[in-house]
Amino acid sequence: MAASAAASYPASGLIAAASPPQRHGGRLQQRRARPLMTLSTSAVRRSDRIRPANAVTMDGWAARLEAPVAVVTGASRGIGRAIAVALGKEGCKVVVNYAKSGMEAEEVCREIEESGGTAFSFAADISCETEVESMMRTVIDAWGTLDVLVNNAGITRDALLMRMKRTQWQEVVDVNLTGVYLCAQAAATVMMKRRKGRIINIASVSGIIGNVGQANYCAAKAGVIGLTKAMAREYGSRNINVNAVAPGWVASDMTAKLGDDVERKALETIPLGRFGRPEEVAGLVEFLAVHPAASYITGQVLPVDGGLSI
Ligand code: NAD
Repeated sequence: MAASAAASYPASGLIAAASPPQRHGGRLQQRRARPLMTLSTSAVRRSDRIRPANAVTMDGWAARLEAPVAVVTGASRGIGRAIAVALGKEGCKVVVNYAKSGMEAEEVCREIEESGGTAFSFAADISCETEVESMMRTVIDAWGTLDVLVNNAGITRDALLMRMKRTQWQEVVDVNLTGVYLCAQAAATVMMKRRKGRIINIASVSGIIGNVGQANYCAAKAGVIGLTKAMAREYGSRNINVNAVAPGWVASDMTAKLGDDVERKALETIPLGRFGRPEEVAGLVEFLAVHPAASYITGQVLPVDGGLSI
């Protein structure tokens, strides 16, 4: 895969606001004799070195498909970051969604652009309907369409059920399940009109086999699996594929806080004897998101778990 050196000019004439990432009143400026455009968004940030995808020489599937537009939620780190980078390298135009880590999200955009791709970051809490709407509107304003949604953002608030507070339950359900519903519904509205789209929900093996101390998380992820199957049935006739990927233990910030004891016990349950890497999840997501061979797969839950759920 090689990036065209001549391609480093702003796509669609859009350049970033001069100020750092803004949570409110973000503004995009157009170059090339176009009038100034102010987007009605609560938060927006776009790189000033965005390249039009068709000016980038890539050998990825996505590039051959005329640079699909992909939104990846919770893409500032961990699995989401790996997915955003993989899709960017494949030739997608990527929206790097994040909740709080603007600097990290910008780094992800930079990495995508350095590999010849196109990206901008966008701050939006996926459990907040207005912020999700704002993000989707910005994507459409900037790139005119949405082809791929990866619902990756997720949190944990672990406790044994006996001690689980209502807030711990609610926060996890709000982000891990309601957030997926909000983003998927907004994306499907766009995809339905175009009769084309792929949605990949990051569930978890915990939502399949359960896990001690994670009743909230397991319930939310099981809900994501049900939502995935229902959506696959509802949107199949519109040529929208909806699948779930269920990672096992993957090395990330989420698992870094487990502690040695839990980690040792977890390793004993994994046939491959190690935690997965974010890139190993990203590879499957990339396949489901852009590969032509994935076009007849929908409503499935695909584990990436080193054999944990056998
Ligand atoms: P992580 O904590 O490293 O990253 C989570 C990302 O989600 C971050 O970018 C964070 O900013 C974002 N986020 C959190 N709340 C958000 C919100 N309200 N709105 C927008 N973004 C938000 O986690 P990870 O390990 O990379 O996990 C990614 C996904 O994979 C999650 O859905 C998680 O449940 C799932 N998963 C992870 C593992 C694992 O072992 N790491 C296993 C199974 C499933």
